[in-house]
Amino acid sequence: MATQPVPPTLQPAKKKLMRRSAPDRSERIRQLVQGLFVALNLWLGLQFFLWVRFFEQPGAGLQVARPNGVEGWLPIAGLMNFKYFLSTGRIPSIHPAAMFLFMAFLLMSLLLKKAFCSWLCPVGTLSEVLWKLGKRLFRRNLRLPGWLDLPLRGLKYLLLAFFAFIIGSMSAEALDDFMHAPYALVADVKMLNFFRNMSLTAAIVLALLVLLSMLVQNFWCRYLCPYGALMGLVSLLSPLKIRRDPEACIDCARCAHACPSHLPVDRLVQIRSAECTACMACVAACPAQNALQLALPPWRNTAPTNRWVRRAASPLVVASLLACIFFGFTVYAKASGHWQTNLPRAVYLDLVPSANDLSHPGY
Ligand code: SF4
Ligand code: SF4
Repeated sequence: MATQPVPPTLQPAKKKLMRRSAPDRSERIRQLVQGLFVALNLWLGLQFFLWVRFFEQPGAGLQVARPNGVEGWLPIAGLMNFKYFLSTGRIPSIHPAAMFLFMAFLLMSLLLKKAFCSWLCPVGTLSEVLWKLGKRLFRRNLRLPGWLDLPLRGLKYLLLAFFAFIIGSMSAEALDDFMHAPYALVADVKMLNFFRNMSLTAAIVLALLVLLSMLVQNFWCRYLCPYGALMGLVSLLSPLKIRRDPEACIDCARCAHACPSHLPVDRLVQIRSAECTACMACVAACPAQNALQLALPPWRNTAPTNRWVRRAASPLVVASLLACIFFGFTVYAKASGHWQTNLPRAVYLDLVPSANDLSHPGY
């Protein structure tokens, strides 16, 4: 049967596309920030490796100062220290940098959604590289069906609840005792050794995660990362959100296709989801002028227009705020003498070579 043409009067009015005046630079700026942060972490990693080698073979290696920034890789120590700080008002002496970095990342989430995950976190950057590589190799990424995706997304919250319960039930004294146990003193060395002396099981699990990350966008971040889960929950309070102007939008759905978190950006006026990482991929994909922005809540401008207006955050503003928060906390901690774990050299000479033999204080 031939399709009857719809009378012109019944067809929805097509919106006129007001093209954006300048190409969007958010992806480029974000990737630059990601690259710089990866470089910083590689530099810290190399310095830390040399420091560990020196204590493993005293006199044989190059003596460098311990880079305290590696404590950013100790999120559990950061959370424990944060609780200790909240309950005693005292800044912990062991791994204080872990706490300051943890607080900086929390503040980023509070102000800028989960920007930590898509702009800074090296694991997030690696995940992004892997799914983009997978998309190129296999021509597409897999999207898990809702019945599987939803419970899997709950896993990271379960892991977060587990850690929050354990740490929440510890007293300040217990936290202090834990942080002074030999295991915790060289937790960073144990982390390095995990990758240096990887067991076959760990290597298989890691290879599986790499493969899954190539197939499914942000597999680790979406389903398993408890740190990202915490940042996502805090980000719900962020005043900045992805906001769509239905009047400027031409309903092309490019934003929803571009979103690595699979959010229905084209159907919502604002994105409240804890999965939104403020990556701005949707904003970059949008062809319409001012249709989609990372913006503060709109307010009515009474004079002279009496229209709703909203203030958008450009990618440069996001990058600058992230840098201000990161360096603000780092510089404050350094200047106030709370950045460094001050342990006698003899302790490291004793513990670093035998780090693999130290077991968790709970066992
Ligand atoms: S909604 Fe936009 S900013 Fe949020 S995750 Fe999706 S693409 Fe990124
Ligand atoms: S990309 Fe999204 S917000 Fe932009 S015009 Fe298309 S549907 Fe609207």
